[in-house]
Amino acid sequence: MNHYDYIIVGSGIAGLYIALLAINQGSVLILTKGSIDDCNTKYAQGGIAAPIGRADSPELHFKDTMAAGDGLCDAEAVRILTDEAAECVADLITLGVPFDTLNGEITLTREAAHSVPRIMHAGGDTTGEHIEVTLSREVRSTSIKVLEHCLASEILVEDGKVKGVKALDCRTGSMEEYGCKFLILATGGIGHLFKYTTNSDVVTGDGIALAFEAGVGISDMEFFQFHPTVLRLPGVAPFLISEAVRGEGGILRNVEGYRFMPDYIPEAELSQRDIVARSIVYEMKKTHSDRVFLDVTHLPPRLITTRFPQIYRFCRDHGLDITKGLIPVAPAAHYLMGGVQVDNWGEATISGLFAAGETACTGVHGANRLASNSLLESVVFGKRVVQRTEMIASSGHCEERDSHLPLGTNPAISHFFPDREPLPTVLPLNLPNLQSLMWDKVGIIRSGESLKEAASILATWQRSLPQFIDRPSYELNNLVLCARLMAEAALLREESRGAHFRTDFPQSSPEWQRHIVFREKHAAR
Ligand SMILES: Cc1cc2nc3c(=O)[nH]c(=O)nc-3n(C[C@H](O)[C@H](O)[C@H](O)COP(=O)(O)OP(=O)(O)OC[C@H]3O[C@@H](n4cnc5c(N)ncnc54)[C@H](O)[C@@H]3O)c2cc1C
Repeated sequence: MNHYDYIIVGSGIAGLYIALLAINQGSVLILTKGSIDDCNTKYAQGGIAAPIGRADSPELHFKDTMAAGDGLCDAEAVRILTDEAAECVADLITLGVPFDTLNGEITLTREAAHSVPRIMHAGGDTTGEHIEVTLSREVRSTSIKVLEHCLASEILVEDGKVKGVKALDCRTGSMEEYGCKFLILATGGIGHLFKYTTNSDVVTGDGIALAFEAGVGISDMEFFQFHPTVLRLPGVAPFLISEAVRGEGGILRNVEGYRFMPDYIPEAELSQRDIVARSIVYEMKKTHSDRVFLDVTHLPPRLITTRFPQIYRFCRDHGLDITKGLIPVAPAAHYLMGGVQVDNWGEATISGLFAAGETACTGVHGANRLASNSLLESVVFGKRVVQRTEMIASSGHCEERDSHLPLGTNPAISHFFPDREPLPTVLPLNLPNLQSLMWDKVGIIRSGESLKEAASILATWQRSLPQFIDRPSYELNNLVLCARLMAEAALLREESRGAHFRTDFPQSSPEWQRHIVFREKHAAR
């Protein structure tokens, strides 16, 4: 078995940035199941939040993040996020990410629920692509070993410590084991669970499934963010129309041309994502339409073409000049707030196991993520992962880990899956049926009834999972597990909070200011 100091699973911003820091400490292997740039990171448009503007401060960024998280943020983790942001974005600049500037100063944009302009961007609306290209180029220039088309399928644990990882070579079908001191899951979220999604098809919850099966707690799975404005054109794959478009003055109109957002909330288009997404769903129902429109025709065309070149080009290539015509949009699945439960150093409850980026639940997003905080979380907590491994390496031993993490100031309740009777007749398990079930029953607007139905169907499907023989079968297994985690958590949480909305419990309840953590009943540990 080949042995490395660090094995990193995933090659988005979290995996690549951690690898570039870790190579100064020891040998590094990156396993990634597609090509190096198959990930969500490269699709990020709006940018990365950092409190570096003159009118801004870490304190103000802290307050905005806490407000968006709707009572469930871990205050200590948010303090770390906002205090360490400036240092980490400076690292990205040093690594060569070409953030946009004006007269030698970084340009900052305002996005929904940020009280000041604070979003750094690159290439206008191609921030993620610039980050991914820059970091992967840097990785290629070092001795970091990258194995593409290599899918991590099992965490190897011995005596409560990580020993390595099992992986499938997706091209040859062969299985290999790789040994390591530190294993870092940077596998991204679970957006591929839903029928309409902005996410890459590599985003299938693998890290969450790997950690769950190894006995690690999975937290806050009911909190999933739906982006309000995703292009809805017949025959065109969902394409994100960045929040920053509303930040620059874009207006939402229903199919009758009426500007509806001020009827729902005074902040109108600049309100939080969940409120805008739900308002759009209500408006679509009211007007019997599958879309609303985003209107930027009143903005200077030059602002649109220079600030949003990618969106402008994409729409133009599909026959729509957005400087002159309305953009048809609808909500789509976007971002997971929950994930692998980790502490403020990104460490999970197994010695030597870490998680970073969207797959981790650090507690910074609470019940709802503030826009552009996810790229930031990836680098701030990614850096802390490497700092923690340095501490462990210099002290010469891994500490025993408590199998329950406190998750900040809010208490956590731990659960196993309840037993559910299999249903006599269900649709066959396949990806489209799973994605439709999740969209219809566990989507933007939920109810106890829809969640119970989904949980029972998922429990039935769990009894007939396909055998793991290749990437699609492995991913389907993981998606069903993540779907069950989400449906069961959403069913338990009898309230509405942040991105989780239930028609039968439309208010939030102080009793529910706590986290839901699921664990594997038959975990080895
Ligand atoms: C369209 C879009 C726009 C966005 N815009 C913004 C924005 O403006 N600002 C912001 O802050 N956030 C934004 N986000 C969210 C942000 O991009 C992601 O949260 C972030 O990029 C996640 O980075 P990551 O490194 O955790 O995961 P990803 O970038 O998704 O990378 C995951 C990696 O893990 C690999 N992988 C997964 N499973 C396995 C396995 N079993 N074995 C091996 N490899 C595996 C994948 O192949 C991939 O390389 C956006 C997201 C989308 C989809």
